[in-house]
Amino acid sequence: FNGLVIGSRFESTVAASESSDPPAEKFEYQAEVSRLMDLIVHSLYSNKDVFLRELISNASDALDKLRFLSVTEPGLLNDGLDLDIRVQSDKDNGIVTITDSGIGMTKQELVDCLGTIAQSGTAKFLKALKDSKDAGSDNNLIGQFGVGFYSAFLVSDKVVVSTKSPKSDKQYVWEGEANASSYLVREETDPEKMLPRGTRLTLYLKRDDKGFAHPERIEKLLKNYSQFVSFPIYTWKEKG
Ligand code: ADP
Ligand code: MG
Repeated sequence: FNGLVIGSRFESTVAASESSDPPAEKFEYQAEVSRLMDLIVHSLYSNKDVFLRELISNASDALDKLRFLSVTEPGLLNDGLDLDIRVQSDKDNGIVTITDSGIGMTKQELVDCLGTIAQSGTAKFLKALKDSKDAGSDNNLIGQFGVGFYSAFLVSDKVVVSTKSPKSDKQYVWEGEANASSYLVREETDPEKMLPRGTRLTLYLKRDDKGFAHPERIEKLLKNYSQFVSFPIYTWKEKG
């Protein structure tokens, strides 16, 4: 992250008054992200398949980063955990999870990475969009540049990212919904959701896109788009 743009902290809210959980904080997306999200949610872009490629590529990048760091800090890999990616789905409920044992994100990194646009691909996308006079060209541009993490919203109503960085003792959760101008960040407290390290994305698929939770569909997409990823990708069905 090169720190070109920093998302504005919107408001700090104490959400869960009835429980002792740490409060969720609400953050507003940077304006460009809001534009991009709006475009993703409302465009008629039809090749929604690209979402999985984008998310697997992020998982692979996160594993690469951890492997690179471990050259100078071998202790990072002492937990005996393999470097891999797991894709699970629950077709009855239309849920897909993508888990990697990569570098993870601190709370600050969650806000910096998943609320702003600093990375080149998406920034180029927005520039191309601005330069194009052609109405409807966003459809081509999404395919051409990819929209990274936000492509999860091509198929999801809600996305939850739970992540643990070796730089922090705590695990954090990012939660965003399609059509919303803000997202929530809170500490993960559910013992069943704890990760030794890395990131788990949970996609709650849109009603019309629940077919993406079918294992055969996922396997086909992985075969078509992610066959050159240099880490093992495991898939299995959770139920159904
Ligand atoms: P890009 O991959 O081009 O940087 P993305 O929108 O795909 O853009 O992702 C934005 C940033 O979010 C990444 O650069 C990375 O810092 C962070 N990120 C996304 N997914 C993960 C993940 N699975 N593990 C760690 N960091 C991630
Ligand atoms: Mg990416």
